[in-house]
Amino acid sequence: MEFSKITELLAGEPKYRLTQVNQAVFSDLAENWDDVTALPKILRERLKKECPMEIPAEISVSAGEDTVKALLKLSDGKFIETVLMRHEDGRNTVCVSSMVGCPMKCAFCATGEMGLMRKLTADEIITQVLFFARLLKKENERVGSVVFMGMGEPFLNYDNVMNAVRTMNSPEGFGIGARHISISTCGIFDGIKKLAKEDLALNLAISLHSSDDEVRRQLMPVAHGYEITELLAVIDEYIAATNRKVMFEYLLISGVNDTDEMALELAKLLKNKLCVVNLIQYNDTGAFIASSHNRMNRFKEILEVNGIQTTMRYRFGRDIKGACGQLATGRN
Ligand code: SF4
Repeated sequence: MEFSKITELLAGEPKYRLTQVNQAVFSDLAENWDDVTALPKILRERLKKECPMEIPAEISVSAGEDTVKALLKLSDGKFIETVLMRHEDGRNTVCVSSMVGCPMKCAFCATGEMGLMRKLTADEIITQVLFFARLLKKENERVGSVVFMGMGEPFLNYDNVMNAVRTMNSPEGFGIGARHISISTCGIFDGIKKLAKEDLALNLAISLHSSDDEVRRQLMPVAHGYEITELLAVIDEYIAATNRKVMFEYLLISGVNDTDEMALELAKLLKNKLCVVNLIQYNDTGAFIASSHNRMNRFKEILEVNGIQTTMRYRFGRDIKGACGQLATGRN
C-alpha cells in the first residue's frame, strides 16, 4: 500500500480525516475502502482508485504452523518475502525485508546469492507488517514485534527503514513499542553510529558468526573491510551512548565456526559487554552443514561458563524456506 499517497490525497480535507484513515488502516485493519464508512463515499472512491488496499501475496505455512511465509508482489512486479513467526508463548513476530535481494553476499545466505535488485521504500516495508496484522486480526491476535532480519541489509537503506520504523512505532500507526523492534546488521559502522543517535530505543542485532577474522571473511565479505575488534569498538561506543544491550547473532556451522576454541575466543571478545549471544542453527541453503544439537549445547555451555548471556534458536519455518538465511524469491 502506498501510505505516503494518503497524505497527498487528503490535502484539501479537514484534519480529522487523516485520523479516521489511520484508524481504518492501522487499527481497524480494513481491507477495503468501501468498509471505511466513516469517510464520505466520494473520498472512498478516490482512495480506492489511487491508493488501493489490496496486498497481492502468496502464503506458505510450515508443517508445525509456527511459521507463515508470504511472497509479496510489489508494484513494479518484483517479489519479496516476509515471515511471521508464531511463538509458543503466543507472541507474534514479523521478520521484514528491507531490499529486493541483497548486495552483501554472505556465503550462508540465499538472499545474498540474488545480489541487490533494489531497496524497498518505507511503504513497502510497512506493508509487510500490515499484511500479517490483517491475517492475525482474523484470529484476534496482533503483531507484537518486528525484526529486520529478512532480505537485505537494513543499514544500507537507512532512511526508508527508519521512516517505516516510525510508522510501526507511532500510536497513529501500529503502536509497536520501540523495544519490540529489532534491526539486524552484518556490521555497517555508519548505520550503528546513526542508530545510537536516534530518539527511539530500538534493539540492535549484529550478525557476527565468527570470533576469527579469517573465518568471518570467508562467511561475510563485508568483513574484508575491517577486523572484528574494530566492529566491537563501534559497538562499545553504541552501548556507551544508549546503555542498551546488543544482540550478537551467531549461526553455528559444522566444522567452520563451532569449535570449543572459537567459543572461548568469542567469550574473551565479548567479556564484560552489555550483550547477549543468540546461537542459531544453520539452515540448509546448500553451502554448509548445520552443527549438531550436541555441538550447539557445548558451544552455549562454554559461553555461559565464561559469563556470556546466551540464547539458542532452532529453526523456524525450515520446511517452507522461511528460516534465517533462506529467503530468496526465485521470481525476480
Ligand atoms: S545474511 Fe543478511 S546481509 Fe548477508 S547476504 Fe543475507 S540478507 Fe544480506
